Amino acid sequence: LFISFEGVDGVGKTTQVQQAHNYLQERGLRSLVTREPGGTPVGLTIRELVLHGLAAFPSVAVTGGTDVVDASDDLAPRTEALLYAADRAEHVAQVVRPALERGDIVLCDRYLDSSLAYQAGGRDLSVDVIRRLSLWASQDLLPKRTYLLDADPSQSKSRLDHEPDRLESAGDDFQQHVRQAFLQLAQREPDRFLVIDATQSIEQVWQIIQDDLDKLVEG
Ligand code: C5P
Ligand code: MG
Repeated sequence: LFISFEGVDGVGKTTQVQQAHNYLQERGLRSLVTREPGGTPVGLTIRELVLHGLAAFPSVAVTGGTDVVDASDDLAPRTEALLYAADRAEHVAQVVRPALERGDIVLCDRYLDSSLAYQAGGRDLSVDVIRRLSLWASQDLLPKRTYLLDADPSQSKSRLDHEPDRLESAGDDFQQHVRQAFLQLAQREPDRFLVIDATQSIEQVWQIIQDDLDKLVEG
């Protein structure tokens, strides 16, 4: 059973993933918590690169083929999309599929819908291209259920527990765009998605997820 948790930054995905994990363990079920980007050692390296740019790799020479390249500048959108896809390929092959084959329940903090919402929705690459890229990378692995924790980004941002990274500090327009992209994805696949109002308390959100998990596990 493969489950993903999605939504803009600060909506409480990580908290709910952990709740779900604890709950499943208490029920005597085997579950695995993982995340994207960064669910493998290679993925962690990619994560550093996409979140912090080349600044994360001070040892890398910054001279390009012809001229000096500005080390900390934004990645080209296609480069970024390919890096997330590479992270996903590695993650699915090394972590997610083996766990599913063992019979574990896999709880993933972000998965392909984040790529669709951020790399397509946020950066104006085509959703179809990003979807094909992602399905190629994952060999067509889709979650059985996706919990979309939905809240206005300007509200959820204030709940972040760390200094914003490169993307978290991107403009509010970008975040609003991403939120709408997530909602559209949910509309397109109502059977896979459960949209949850993330302005509710942690307990209320968890109650909704728990009820649904019970059904999935028993189904
Ligand atoms: O949720 P987490 O903090 O691990 O995500 C790290 C950052 O990567 C977030 O700021 C999110 O905006 C960004 N991200 C992205 N595209 C993805 C996955 C995450 O832009 N496919
Ligand atoms: Mg974050």
